[in-house]
Amino acid sequence: MRTQVGIIGAGPAGLLLAHLLHRQGIESVLLESRSRKDIEATIRAGVLEQGTVDLMNELGVGERMRREGAVHRGIELAFGGRRHRIDLSGLTGGKAITVYAQHEVIKDLVKARLEAAGEILFEVEGVSVRDVDTKAPGIHFRKDGTGHELDCDFIAGCDGFHGVSRPAIPSRVRREFVRTYPFGWFGILAEAPPSSEELIYAYHERGFVLISTRSPQIQRLYFQCDPNDSVDNWPDERIWREFHARLPMADGWRVTEGRIFQKGIVAMRSFVAEPMQYGRLFLAGDSAHIVPPTGAKGLNLAAADVRVLARAIGEFYRSGRTEALDRYSEVALRRIWRAEHFSWWMTSMLHRFHDDDPFHQRLQRSQLEYVVGSAAAATSLAENYVGLPLD
Ligand SMILES: Cc1cc2nc3c(=O)[nH]c(=O)nc-3n(C[C@H](O)[C@H](O)[C@H](O)COP(=O)(O)OP(=O)(O)OC[C@H]3O[C@@H](n4cnc5c(N)ncnc54)[C@H](O)[C@@H]3O)c2cc1C
Repeated sequence: MRTQVGIIGAGPAGLLLAHLLHRQGIESVLLESRSRKDIEATIRAGVLEQGTVDLMNELGVGERMRREGAVHRGIELAFGGRRHRIDLSGLTGGKAITVYAQHEVIKDLVKARLEAAGEILFEVEGVSVRDVDTKAPGIHFRKDGTGHELDCDFIAGCDGFHGVSRPAIPSRVRREFVRTYPFGWFGILAEAPPSSEELIYAYHERGFVLISTRSPQIQRLYFQCDPNDSVDNWPDERIWREFHARLPMADGWRVTEGRIFQKGIVAMRSFVAEPMQYGRLFLAGDSAHIVPPTGAKGLNLAAADVRVLARAIGEFYRSGRTEALDRYSEVALRRIWRAEHFSWWMTSMLHRFHDDDPFHQRLQRSQLEYVVGSAAAATSLAENYVGLPLD
């Protein structure tokens, strides 16, 4: 088998890259270890930055997102029994975020890719890359028990944090930056109308809470927890009790309860691998970096990476020039570190770190009061949250 760009992983990064390349007349083959049904059912991100929404529209895959996604022009920060609105649109010249679940994005991208006769090979096994430091790299994989070789000009490692691409960059050239947080998020999906029209990020001495939505009938809610806790310790009544305890509002507002139909715990980590290129292997998305979900940046960063990469690959095929490819890592990492900082900053401001450290808690309260009381501070949060311009 031969193609121009071999893409490992059909998550947001890999699928968006395939579409961006196709638009420039560049062919690619996507290799995905899971089934279509599985990737279309995995519940993950839900907040799309303005730039990600624009990209979906530009690629002609935004029709359902425009119809079913919810445009949010503000978020709320809650602390000390009060909610304070951050006017995202007012502070950023009209930009907004769209709440549209990642698995819906995946469904739209897969459908459009298959309709355009693009190749996605699902349920491949034993994927490995070879000769990435030459001009003729390749990917070995098995499908239905048979071994295959995919020869290509470039390999895009879009296979997430646990994929095979990042380890293929030799450790002597790869540097990894890691921060592990001492807490996780307990997430639920509940059949109940939204508790709030906008997302609420709440700080409380019992820990952080995020009130989010999925649809007019379904809420997505999270609370800070011990990353080693088990969902079995949390019957539904205990979950609702915890939400109410962490959200005591002076105006009597309460989270709306409903049937909980999904529970899970995610660990929180910041991670960056540098460089994101080795020879003709390019990393994009979670294969190169992870952010804690507090800033809602993971999916959006994946989209930003592949936009830079697709442009560089396009320039190579149009002109034979490699300057943009050579600068891919440097250009992508500039935006990644900004998002890493923002995600760390939001996480640090809103979570309980030290049960016994009142000094730290006072600093957090002071920071929160500054953000909701100062137009300059609120603008800084808003412009990072809706997403900084790509270039
Ligand atoms: C609970 C949760 C909430 C989140 N909330 C947000 C949010 O609100 N906003 C936001 O922007 N981000 C959020 N994120 C992060 C976001 O989901 C990820 O950053 C995003 O999925 C990254 O996309 P990706 O394509 O790089 O990687 P992935 O989505 O991980 O896709 C990688 C794909 O590669 C496949 N793969 C792996 N190994 C191989 C292999 N060896 N061979 C072939 N295929 C392979 C995997 O099966 C997968 O389909 C959240 C994450 C979690 C867990």
